[in-house]
Amino acid sequence: MNKKNTQQFVDLDNAREDEQKQVMQEIITADHCPFCLENLRKYHKQPILKEGKYWILTKNQWPYKYTKIHLLAIYKEHATKLSELDPQSGVELLQFMQWAEREHKIPGGGWAMRFGDTNYSAGTVNHLHVQFIQPDIEHPEFEPVRIKLGKG
Ligand SMILES: [Zn+2]
Repeated sequence: MNKKNTQQFVDLDNAREDEQKQVMQEIITADHCPFCLENLRKYHKQPILKEGKYWILTKNQWPYKYTKIHLLAIYKEHATKLSELDPQSGVELLQFMQWAEREHKIPGGGWAMRFGDTNYSAGTVNHLHVQFIQPDIEHPEFEPVRIKLGKG
């Protein structure tokens, strides 16, 4: 497998679902970043909940299992490393997370951002984004939602 090519924008190894893998394959063929604004609409069919100066807040197209709410905050410029983020974007990010907590009346959950080399981050899309999750603890088959770090 030619890791260099497939890892540029997406990492198929870290995709979870068949449909997601199919879309990822399209993205690899097109060789562009699915989270960059000019491409986002092509692949991402979920409504944009909020758009700020730095972030777009939307629903995750492929929510993790046993999540009641799974949102994504996507950085509006292509960035893969934390050092590429404008520190001011942290303020807006927190405002968006607070809005989501209020809007969805979320009693508890978590949020996480992977960054950098997808071998370490286990991220699927190599463009900085934040996962915001309320686990669905009332689901009859509920299992804790885990966020993986590191490919393995
Ligand atoms: Zn991008």
